[in-house]
Amino acid sequence: MQEHGTCFNIAHIEHGSEIYGPGKRFVIWFQGCSLACPGCWNKSMWSFEPCNLVEREKLLHEILAYSELDGLTVLGGEPLEQAHNLYWLLTSLQEKNVSVMLYTGYQMDEIKNDNLKSKICEMADILVSGRYKEDERDLNLKWRGSRNQILLVQNEIYNDLDLDDGTNQVEITIDEFGTINVLGYPDDDLCSIL
Ligand code: SF4
Repeated sequence: MQEHGTCFNIAHIEHGSEIYGPGKRFVIWFQGCSLACPGCWNKSMWSFEPCNLVEREKLLHEILAYSELDGLTVLGGEPLEQAHNLYWLLTSLQEKNVSVMLYTGYQMDEIKNDNLKSKICEMADILVSGRYKEDERDLNLKWRGSRNQILLVQNEIYNDLDLDDGTNQVEITIDEFGTINVLGYPDDDLCSIL
C-alpha cells in the first residue's frame, strides 16, 4: 500500500460515463497497482509514482457537485492499495446515500484476510473482484473483462439489474478539438478503425 497522506493518487477522472455501472457515474481510475495481471489494459496505471495528487476533501466535493450523479465507480490501478483514503471517501459518500461500484483485482479470499479491505468491499453497492485473466477474457460479460472475475450486487436497489445482457460496451467521445477518447475495452475490429 502506498498512500500520500490525505491525498489520492489519481490517474484519470470521467464525469458521466455510462459503461462502468448503472446510470451516469463519476468514475475515478486510481494510480498504482502491484498485482501485475498479464494482459492488463491499464499498465500505465501500475506505477505508484505520483500522477495527480488530489486532496480527499476536494475530491469528495467534486463528486457531490456533479449534478447528474447516479453514483461513483472506482477502478484502476488498484483502489484497495489506497485503502485508508478510500475508506474515508466511501464512509463520507455513504452518509450522502451515494451509490458506489468498486473494482478490485484482489480475490475474495485475499479480501477476507484483510480487515480494512473487507470493510471497504462491504460498503460497495456493486463489487467486481478478481485478477484480470487474459485467457479468460470475454467481451460478452457485463462490467467485467474476464470470466473468473466475480460481480456481486450488495444493495437491493439494484436487484432488478439485468446482469446477463452480455453486451460489451464502449464509450467514444470527441471533444471540441477533435480528440477521440475511448473508454472500455474495444474489440479488435473497433481498434483497427480508431
Ligand atoms: S488489478 Fe487491474 S490494474 Fe492491476 S494489473 Fe490487474 S487488471 Fe491491471
